[in-house]
Amino acid sequence: MTNRRNFIKKTALGTIGFSSLIACKQDTKQAHDHSVTAHQNTGLKPLIISTWKHGFSANEAAWETLINGGSGIDAVESGVMVSEGDPNERSVGYGGLPDREGKVTLDACIMDHNSNCGSVSFLQGIKHPIAVARKVMEDTPHVMLTGEGALKFALSKGFKEENLLTPESEKDWKKWLEKSNYEPIINIENHDTISMLALDENGNLSGACTTSGAAWKMHGRVGDSPIIGAGLFLDNAVGAAAATGLGEAVIRTAGSAMVVEQMRMGKSPAEACKTIVERIYNIHKDHKDMAYLQVGFIAINKQGQYGGYSLRSGFDFAVCDNTKGNRMENASFKMEWNEN
Ligand code: ASP
Repeated sequence: MTNRRNFIKKTALGTIGFSSLIACKQDTKQAHDHSVTAHQNTGLKPLIISTWKHGFSANEAAWETLINGGSGIDAVESGVMVSEGDPNERSVGYGGLPDREGKVTLDACIMDHNSNCGSVSFLQGIKHPIAVARKVMEDTPHVMLTGEGALKFALSKGFKEENLLTPESEKDWKKWLEKSNYEPIINIENHDTISMLALDENGNLSGACTTSGAAWKMHGRVGDSPIIGAGLFLDNAVGAAAATGLGEAVIRTAGSAMVVEQMRMGKSPAEACKTIVERIYNIHKDHKDMAYLQVGFIAINKQGQYGGYSLRSGFDFAVCDNTKGNRMENASFKMEWNEN
């Protein structure tokens, strides 16, 4: 574990606390020239990056964990737990939109710098699937537990079973039932999966990913988010990547693992994300999923560079470091929603 005094000495913000971090909203205009925004970074550590607007408060919690001496894995776990516990986040944990049977089913995974990883899928009734995924990583000989087995394991570890379907989500589900039209449109209102990547002060990478998945999915559907290599992947010698968006498309391309491989071949995080988004587009341009397809990736490398890229407009991510504080940045993207 990090020695807190050393950490505070090395981290300018440690002396003034997280509340002094600058919350600077970046320019919202997109280049939209099929190029990639150069997300500059000084290479200073630590660095935390996470998907969508809910990443902002998740980053705060993760940073707090780091400056209090927590490890990278402690940081990403505590960070994404903020979104899991927030009933207003309709695509993660408690308050997440249910499947077509009205059941909230959760997917999550976590990975550390030694390539240890843990995952739960199709888990019901547990507010913090990421904490269960961490227990799978640390306390079992396995990587993934699913459904009933994952729930049994969670209960054996002292997790409390509770109803995760909030009245708001139940209301939305009943409204959806009137037409039962399955169009898993992933947009800026949904706010989607939270994926978080961290580079700690020792240069070690960690990642976490957690979601309630696509609203109105079939009962039993599992997306990319609990799948190491799809929703999340890291290689501590190279970098880390994580996904949001239509899980089926991310699984088909082993998305996050491929982003890391692009960084291994020398691409910047943003260029690596773009390459895999282009690949997903090429595979899907005549596919049935194309009409509602959105995917986005975030990535960081060992040098402390970071970036993100999405297929369609509207994807943003939260970045926190000790030079510019915590802020939202817009990912570059391939196309607008009304383009094909
Ligand atoms: N990737 C998630 C899933 O397919 C959903 C999302 O990020 O919007 O389950």
